[in-house]
Amino acid sequence: MLKAIQILGSSSGFVSHRLKPHGNCGLSFVSISTKPSSSSSSRTPTTKNSLLSPTLSVRKGPCLRAFRVSLTRCESNPDGTSSPSSVAFQSNGNTRKIKFCQLCGGPTKHEIPDGEEKMRAICTLCGKISYENPKMVVGCLIEHDNKILLCKRKIQPSYGLWTLPAGYMEIGESAAEGAIRETWEEASAEVEVLSPFAQLDIPLIGQTYIIFLAKLKRPHFAPGPESSECRLFSLDDIPFDSLAFSSMLVTLKLYTEDRKVGRPKFHYGTINKRPGTSPSEIRAYTLDYHMLS
Ligand SMILES: [Zn+2]
Repeated sequence: MLKAIQILGSSSGFVSHRLKPHGNCGLSFVSISTKPSSSSSSRTPTTKNSLLSPTLSVRKGPCLRAFRVSLTRCESNPDGTSSPSSVAFQSNGNTRKIKFCQLCGGPTKHEIPDGEEKMRAICTLCGKISYENPKMVVGCLIEHDNKILLCKRKIQPSYGLWTLPAGYMEIGESAAEGAIRETWEEASAEVEVLSPFAQLDIPLIGQTYIIFLAKLKRPHFAPGPESSECRLFSLDDIPFDSLAFSSMLVTLKLYTEDRKVGRPKFHYGTINKRPGTSPSEIRAYTLDYHMLS
C-alpha cells in the first residue's frame, strides 16, 4: 500500500537523452542541460548546477553507463533564492515535526548534536536522538502479452490515477518480497519477479523506489482494496496523462523507451523537483544521475 507518497512533478515533461557512454566500464557521469523545447516568457532557464555536476566521475564499479539529465526549461523561482542544487541537496527538514520521543514519550528539543551537522530532534528526558531515514517503496512492472499491468488508485493521494502496484517495504521482508506482496494487495496478482528494473531516489521527500520486472504466475488479476480497476495496457496506450506519481512516470518512460529498442535495462536515477512548481505537477522534475546497465 502506498498511502503517503511523493508528488513531484509538471508541464514540461520528461526528457531523456541518451549520450555516448563514457568508457566501456566503470562509473562516470556526464552533466548536460537540455535545450528548452519551446520558449516562454514566464520561464527562466536554469543555470547548470555545479554541485550536481559530478566530481564523482569515473569510479570503479559495475559496468554502467551514466548520464545526468536535466531540464533547463525550469519554472522561474519567485524568491530567487534557491536553485536546483539547493533543492537536490537539502535535508528533508522534517525533524521539527518530531515533537515527542519515540522511546519514552518525552518532549523533544531541536538542536545539532555534538559531532553532527544536522538538526535533530533530541528527547529532553532520556536524550534519545530521533533520526529520520528515507523510506523504501517497492513495486512491480508486470509484463503480460506485451502489455503491462496498471492499477487505478481508489485512495488518496492521487485518487483515480494510474500506478504500478507498489508500496512501502515492511520490516522483515526483502525488496522483492515486498514488491510481490504489494502486487498481491493492490492487484490480486501472483507474480514472479524477473529482475530489478529501476532504482529511483527522491531525496526531497526521503523515498527510494525499487521497481522489479515481473510476470504473472497465472493470468489472473483483480482490484484489491486500494484499487478501483486493474488493467493491462499496451505500450502505446499507457495513460501517461493520468499517472499518479513522478516515479511512475519516470519508470514507464524508461521502460517504453527500452522496449522500443530491445530488452529493458537497469536504471538508476535521482528525481528532483523543479523549484517553483506545484507539488501536484508530477512532470515538474529533473532526472539526475541517470545510469543504466
Ligand atoms: Zn525519551
